[in-house]
Amino acid sequence: MAIKQPETLNPFAEAVAQFDAAAERLKLSPELRAILRAPKRELTVNFPVRMDDGRVEMFTGYRVQHNINRGPAKGGIRYDANVSIDEVRALAMWMTWKCAVVNIPFGGAKGGVIVDPRQLSRGELERLTRRYATEIAGVIGPESDIPAPDVNTNPQIMAWIMDTYSMHKGYSVPAVVTGKPLSIGGSEGRMEATGRGVYVVTREACKALGIEMKGASVVVQGFGNVGSVTARLMHEAGCRVIALSDVYGAIHNPDGIDVKLALRFVQEHGTLKGLPGATPIDGKEALELPCDILIPAATEGQITEQNAHRIKAKLVVEAANGPTTTEADAILHARGIAVIPDILANAGGVTVSYFEWVQDLQHFFWAEDEINLRLESVMTRSFAAVQAKRDLENCDYRLAAYLLAVARVAEATQVRGIYP
Ligand code: NAD
Repeated sequence: MAIKQPETLNPFAEAVAQFDAAAERLKLSPELRAILRAPKRELTVNFPVRMDDGRVEMFTGYRVQHNINRGPAKGGIRYDANVSIDEVRALAMWMTWKCAVVNIPFGGAKGGVIVDPRQLSRGELERLTRRYATEIAGVIGPESDIPAPDVNTNPQIMAWIMDTYSMHKGYSVPAVVTGKPLSIGGSEGRMEATGRGVYVVTREACKALGIEMKGASVVVQGFGNVGSVTARLMHEAGCRVIALSDVYGAIHNPDGIDVKLALRFVQEHGTLKGLPGATPIDGKEALELPCDILIPAATEGQITEQNAHRIKAKLVVEAANGPTTTEADAILHARGIAVIPDILANAGGVTVSYFEWVQDLQHFFWAEDEINLRLESVMTRSFAAVQAKRDLENCDYRLAAYLLAVARVAEATQVRGIYP
């Protein structure tokens, strides 16, 4: 479960502020800024679910499509008690820029249901998923909007969405979602793609900043899909992963944690808490440990103006979406700490989702090696483009990534024109 954020922290305001900084630098017209700020389509659904004890409970869900000028909308579905329309709007906007920064032909979308899925039985989770999928079926589809997993959703949930959508159509439509199990048209390498992309971008950033990866000390916040794969790949690359955290707390070992042992421990115990050979510490404290590389891979709003002064990393790589607030970003920049922005750092997931969608549409599947090679090439090329922009514009990585992404979406919007 994500920690409740301060009332004042509105992720959509953060997303708009980041866009505005790029729009200003690109000297976009006021009309174009207004178009690109606004989510194109927002659907709110309130729906009943029959619980195991016979009661009927009401749930609220959303699907927001921010911009579809470069292609069908693409973005994950999040199940969390803290989901709000502003969070979904922000995540949808970030997806637009993310697809543009790695130059894949998708627009941005996001979905969410206000629910703590850990309180549900498997049957309740399936009924909630199938009903939510039915409620949003009018706006999703392989040509229009393709969901994927996000926080607290997984391949099984994608399978239920694919099946529900297919039942309504009367035939199988694998390309309606990505992040599916392999047996129904999922892609090799998708489960690891986001973490692998984070790793590739971190490696490239280390090269650019003169940080030696071998022996570099690393802190990873969040040990779910993204955090655990990233931590494992960093460990395999010879880094010293000195702290890991999950929603229950953090663990620390200055000599390095055995990440493979941590993975097995979490599979058995559901948490990092109690991992032998590591000291339990407070989750917030972990972010402030002296280290070379800090990788927030949990949720939004983790590095704020309250703790940004105490961050001691040389490099922050945003594996999570929106982990740094605008104020904190300015503080880190002023202190000379490089921040690789989420829209670049975690774009590996959507990149392999794109490969999955292409494979589904072509009914022709690629081997894992090929997927990883193509992912490596997209992430390396995208990092190089952002680095070149940063050098040219003499700005930070976030603004450089936004300048590239926003310019691509602005161009597509302009060339298509205003209908009618
Ligand atoms: P997940 O549900 O698999 O894992 C989330 C992890 O974060 C869990 O270990 C949880 O315990 C931990 N966590 C939650 N709140 C925390 C807190 N306050 N402090 C420390 N740990 C906390 O989710 P995920 O798929 O790994 O996603 C993580 C982040 O990456 C999200 O911001 C998501 O939007 C982003 N992301 C995910 C993907 C993907 O392919 N899964 C792609 C791009 C971006």
